[in-house]
Amino acid sequence: NHVSVHSSGFRDFLLKPELLCAISDCGFEHPSEIQLESIPQAILGLDVVCQGKSGTGKTAIFVLATLQQLEVEDSRVRVLVICHTRELAFQISKEYERFSKHMKNVRTAVFIGGRSISKDEETSKQKRPHIVVGTPGRILTLVRSRHLHLKHLHQFVVDECDKMLNQLDMRKDIQEIFSRTPPHKQVMMFSATFSDETKAICKKFMNDPVEFYVEEKQLTLKGLQQHFISLHEHQKNRKLIELLDALDYNQVIIFLKSVHRCIFLCELLNEQNLPVTAIHRSMKQNERLRLYQRFKNFESRILVTTNLFGRGIDIERVNVVINYDVPENADTYLHRVARAGRFDTKGLAVTFLANKSDAEILNEVQEKFEVSISKMPDNTDQALY
Ligand code: ADP
Ligand code: MG
Repeated sequence: NHVSVHSSGFRDFLLKPELLCAISDCGFEHPSEIQLESIPQAILGLDVVCQGKSGTGKTAIFVLATLQQLEVEDSRVRVLVICHTRELAFQISKEYERFSKHMKNVRTAVFIGGRSISKDEETSKQKRPHIVVGTPGRILTLVRSRHLHLKHLHQFVVDECDKMLNQLDMRKDIQEIFSRTPPHKQVMMFSATFSDETKAICKKFMNDPVEFYVEEKQLTLKGLQQHFISLHEHQKNRKLIELLDALDYNQVIIFLKSVHRCIFLCELLNEQNLPVTAIHRSMKQNERLRLYQRFKNFESRILVTTNLFGRGIDIERVNVVINYDVPENADTYLHRVARAGRFDTKGLAVTFLANKSDAEILNEVQEKFEVSISKMPDNTDQALY
C-alpha cells in the first residue's frame, strides 16, 4: 500500500499510523540524514541539540517527535515551540496542522506579537491548545498574565536557537518562560549554525542531551550556485532590473540591510512594472502575514525583504536569492542563500559587492565554509538552478 511503499524509512521509526499517513500525504519518501539520526532519539523523549544543514527538514524532526508523544485526551499545553520571527511561528504551526491531520483532536495555537492580545487570551481559554507555537515576547506576556499555563508542559522546543540565545532580550524571555515550566520535560534545540558558546548555552537548558553537529565547512548546500557582482552602489538598481530580466527564476528573494531601503526599492521596482512584494518589520502584522501567504502561495514572485526572512522560512519555489546588500556576517550569508536550494534542490545566489568591506564578508564566508563564490558569468546556465 501507499504508506509502506513510500515511507519505508519513516516506517522504521515506529510512528503512529496517523503520522505515517500524513508523511505520505506530504510526499516525503525518505527521511533526510539528520532525520534518520535524530528522530529515533527525539521520540524517546531525550533532550536534543540538533545542528543540520539548512533545508534538510529539521522542522519535521520536532513536529513528528512531539506529535508521536502527544496524548490528546487531556487539554493542557504539552508542547511549546519558540522561534525568532512571527512568520516562522506561523509556518511551524502550519506544519503541525499538516502532520496532525489524521490525528483526532490535536489543537495547535500560534501566539505572536503585533496582534490582539485579547484574542490570544481568548484562544488560549477557548481552544485549549495542546501545542503552542510563538515568539518569545508574546508567549511571555501570556504566561505572566496567567492566560497561558505551562505547568504541565512535556516538550520545550527552540528553533533557530543560536539566533534566539545570542540575542540578549530574547534569551532573557526564553529563560523566564523556561523557569515557568516543570523541571522534567524534553528540551530540543535546532539550528543550522552553532558557535561553541551557543552549544554551551543550549546545554544549560538540558539534561544529558544527545548532540548532532555538522562540521562547519560542510554546511553549504551543494545544489546552490553562488556568484558575486562587483559594482558601485548607484549601479545596483539597474543591475538588479537587468538580472530580474535575464534570470529564469520561479521565485526570488532580494535581501536588503534596512527597512527604508526595502520600501524604496519596492517602490522603484513597482514603477518599473515589476510586481514585487515587500515584507519588513515596520508593517502591520496582519499585512505581513497576508503578504507572506501570498508569496508562499506563488501569487507573487519577487520578495524584497530584510533579515526578517533570512532564516527558517521555507518557500518551495524560491530558486534565486539576491543579496542586494551584503549580509553582516558569514552565518547570515549562509542562512539567507539557503532560502533557495532547499531539500537538495538547485538554486542560485547572487551577491552585490559595492566596496572593500563587502568583499571582506564574502571572503569570510569562503574561509568559514567550503564554498567558492565566483564572479557572475555573463550567461548563467539555466539548467543549473
Ligand atoms: P530546515 O528547518 O532544516 O531548514 P525545513 O524543516 O524547513 O528545513 O524543511 C525544508 C523543506 O524540506 C520543507 O519544505 C519540508 O517540507 C521538506 N522536507 C522535510 N523533510 C522531508 C523529507 N523527508 N522528504 C521530502 N521533503 C522533506
Ligand atoms: Mg528550520
